[in-house]
Amino acid sequence: QVETLKAKLLEQAQEISRLRSEQGGTDAEKHRDLLAAENERLRQEMKACEGELRELQRQQQAPCRDCPHLQENAGLQEQLSQLQREAEETRAKLVELDLEVQQKTNRLAEVELRLKDSLAERAEEEERLSRRLRDSQETIASLKSQPQQIKYIIKTVEVESAKVKQALCETQSRNQYLQEQVGMQKQVLKEMEQQLQRSQKTEAQLRAQIMMYEAELERAHGQMLEEMQAMEEEKNHAIEEAFSRAQVEMKAVHENLAGVRTNLLTLQPALRTLTHDYNSLKRQVRDFPQLLQEALRSARAEISQAIEEVHSTNRELLRKYRRELQLRKKCHNELVRLKGNIRVFGRVRPITKEDGEGPEAANAVTFDADDDAVLYLLHKGKQVSFELDKVFPPQASQEEVFQEVQALVTSCIDGYNVCIFAYGQTGAGKTYTMEGTAANPGINQRALQLLFSEVRGKAADWDYTITVSAAEIYNEALRDLLGKEPQEKLEIKLCPDGSGQLYVPGLTEFRVQSVEDINKVFEFGHIKRVTECTNLNEHSSRSHALLIVTVRGLDRSTGLRTTGKLNLVDLAGSERVGRSGAEGSRLREAQHINKSLSALGDVIYALRSRQGHVPFRNSKLTYLLQDSLSGDSKTLMMVQVSPAEKNTSETLCSLKFAERVRSVELGPVSRKAELASWPSQEHLEGDSPGSTAPPGRGHSSPSPGQLSSRSASIRRKLQTSG
Ligand code: ADP
Ligand code: MG
Repeated sequence: QVETLKAKLLEQAQEISRLRSEQGGTDAEKHRDLLAAENERLRQEMKACEGELRELQRQQQAPCRDCPHLQENAGLQEQLSQLQREAEETRAKLVELDLEVQQKTNRLAEVELRLKDSLAERAEEEERLSRRLRDSQETIASLKSQPQQIKYIIKTVEVESAKVKQALCETQSRNQYLQEQVGMQKQVLKEMEQQLQRSQKTEAQLRAQIMMYEAELERAHGQMLEEMQAMEEEKNHAIEEAFSRAQVEMKAVHENLAGVRTNLLTLQPALRTLTHDYNSLKRQVRDFPQLLQEALRSARAEISQAIEEVHSTNRELLRKYRRELQLRKKCHNELVRLKGNIRVFGRVRPITKEDGEGPEAANAVTFDADDDAVLYLLHKGKQVSFELDKVFPPQASQEEVFQEVQALVTSCIDGYNVCIFAYGQTGAGKTYTMEGTAANPGINQRALQLLFSEVRGKAADWDYTITVSAAEIYNEALRDLLGKEPQEKLEIKLCPDGSGQLYVPGLTEFRVQSVEDINKVFEFGHIKRVTECTNLNEHSSRSHALLIVTVRGLDRSTGLRTTGKLNLVDLAGSERVGRSGAEGSRLREAQHINKSLSALGDVIYALRSRQGHVPFRNSKLTYLLQDSLSGDSKTLMMVQVSPAEKNTSETLCSLKFAERVRSVELGPVSRKAELASWPSQEHLEGDSPGSTAPPGRGHSSPSPGQLSSRSASIRRKLQTSG
């Protein structure tokens, strides 16, 4: 029993040591420490990584604003932050595990303590048992030596063995209990081991995760490094390029600098001269106001002197000009006097459709190519030549005609009275010459236009007013064509101021300032004009139409006043009554016309032959134009003729009238005597039916001798030209 007990004890001791080694409390602690150290290391590594990451982020942030990797980087950073979060969680888990391990370690320590206690108890028990065993052995030995005693002792031993047996039983039960305890401890240990295994597993997992994160971090780091590398390369490349560019530029700048230096070197002398110039200019500028003042003073003096000189020369020139003007006027008057105050022009109209066709409409008038004052008329097979002051062929334009009369018109501005008559048979072109057409105006409109422009030209010194009156003489009655009552007969009266001037009370005067005004006046006059048709020409007029233009001027510097009158007269048709087949009132009309035309001829004759008495009062026409026909007045007779064969008789009459008017001027006294007689219209042609009518002149009745000499001269003329 003892042996087995001993063996059991040994066994138990071994078991205890095994358990102790197996328990591994220190191992777990070691393991935990290892883990903690590992943990610490990882933590530090992570910190370093974070620091690196921060550094990288800081580096990246600035230069990589527009970097294409920025987005990737952001993704990586997000990943990183997630990883960090996960690491954080893992760390928390680790802390939890640490705590658990701590708790378990504590519990393990407790268990160990209890185990130690139970082991100590066991040792004590063993000690006690072994002591009793020794005691028992000693007793046995003594008993052996003392058989009596031994027997007793055996008996005691036997007795005591029972006790030992009981104690053994107790010990066994105690051992049982302890074994149970050990079993329980083993269970606890197993559980703890399992727990440890689990925590190791989670740790391994965490480690794997950490490794993964690390790998991820590594990768991100690598990527980042790569990117940084690439960026670095780019940067280096850019720097290199910039550097090379800068070098080139630098070189150019150096070259420029060299050029500038040389320029500077060359400019220095220029600068010196410039400075010198500048200084001298400065001096000049300083002195300039004074110089200017002086120059101005002298210039002013010079200018005022020059002005004075100009003034005096102007005065002198004005004086000379006035003298010249008077001289010119004198010369002009002399010229006009030499040319004759009365001039006679002839104008031949072209053959028109109204002349019809055939021999009747043949042309009977020809001209002299070398002399524009001569024309030839083929009458009854004989060519008669006529010499006037000027002859206008059919192709002569209105303008050409006007050019010849414009000197007369302008003399009106100088204060002369002018009369322009259109004489001729009906249809010979009188109205065409005087009035013209709208597209091609005649003398009337052109004269007024010329007056306007002349007056405008003199406007600096003169004030002019131009007024217009229009009248007609029909059957020896004077009517105002511009008045309110055109049928009213006007009277010609002597001015009451005793000047001997005539005037027509009630004759309307319109002030005109423009061509439009004239056109209105003409239109107005036209409507009121009394016209009647004869069978010669339905447009012919049986009245004399007068346009009286008065030009009044005031020389502002001298106060001199001038008044000139321009009388433009479209006479009634000069055809003889017999030819027009008129009777009754037509005959009376014709007689009146005849009378007034004869009276006009008489007056012109008397004027040109400078007779003492001029029979102005023989007709309304001459009486009205008295002051425009006498004195310094100028007269133009435009004799209109038709070139048609059928009109040759009237053409002959008209041309004879014209030549007679003109021929008066040729005559010195003898001529005057020769042409002293002025026959009536009917006397102008020998074969006229009215040739027996008495002469229309009331004064200076011609002697028979004079008459015969006049007709002889006409005859002579006819013969020479025919
Ligand atoms: P009058 O007034 O002498 O009776 P007009 O002036 O009425 O004659 O002329 C008669 C016709 O002859 C008109 O149709 C006119 O246009 C025309 N006529 C007159 N003279 C000319 C001319 N020089 N050129 C063209 N046609 C003319
Ligand atoms: Mg007419």
